[in-house]
Amino acid sequence: MRIAQAGARLLEPVTPSKIVCIGRNYAAHAKELGNDVPDEPLIFLKPPSSLLAPGAAIVLPRASQRVEHEAEIGIVIGKLTRAVSLDDALQAVYGITCINDVTARDLQRKDVQFTRAKSFDTFCPVGPWIETELALDSLVVSGRVNGELRQHAPVSDMVFSLVKLIAFISHVMTLEAGDLIATGTPEGVGPLLAGDSAEVEVSGVGVLRNPVTADCAD
Ligand code: ZN
Repeated sequence: MRIAQAGARLLEPVTPSKIVCIGRNYAAHAKELGNDVPDEPLIFLKPPSSLLAPGAAIVLPRASQRVEHEAEIGIVIGKLTRAVSLDDALQAVYGITCINDVTARDLQRKDVQFTRAKSFDTFCPVGPWIETELALDSLVVSGRVNGELRQHAPVSDMVFSLVKLIAFISHVMTLEAGDLIATGTPEGVGPLLAGDSAEVEVSGVGVLRNPVTADCAD
């Protein structure tokens, strides 16, 4: 059955067992946060409980005074993958989607490690869907807030390529079908405020759009 997109509410297009993220994978972004470019990929995890559907609201937690957007290219893994070579890494890819690696920057600095800052509920918007027929070497990621362009970079700006990331991660942990890799964010990260509209666009995929709200819970 086909239904009109205008009347449909999209859900998260994937249910990963884990979300593997990459830090400092664009030199200009590492620099804007005062970091050096690492000599091998810097990986961390977001919990699946942080996933958020397209159009649903990013909730600003009361514990943070500085929540920021991170527009990223998302890789969706298609099959069980363990210790793959660079030559075989592309076979692990099911498709590409958009991810906003929402981050409580003040808590990231305070805690030193990343878990709390990256893990609040609603901190991993993903979608709007998965594109399975794309040339991975010509992707471009953009981040916008209220329509204003904040982030924009070709995949060729990455320190470690998509293929290198998959191979590297697969030598650390087994990747399962549906797992997500958030491949790092380019320079231009900045604050999200209540009432904002956050967008991530990956060329050839589409636009992931989420409103931002304050935490109104008691
Ligand atoms: Zn990130």
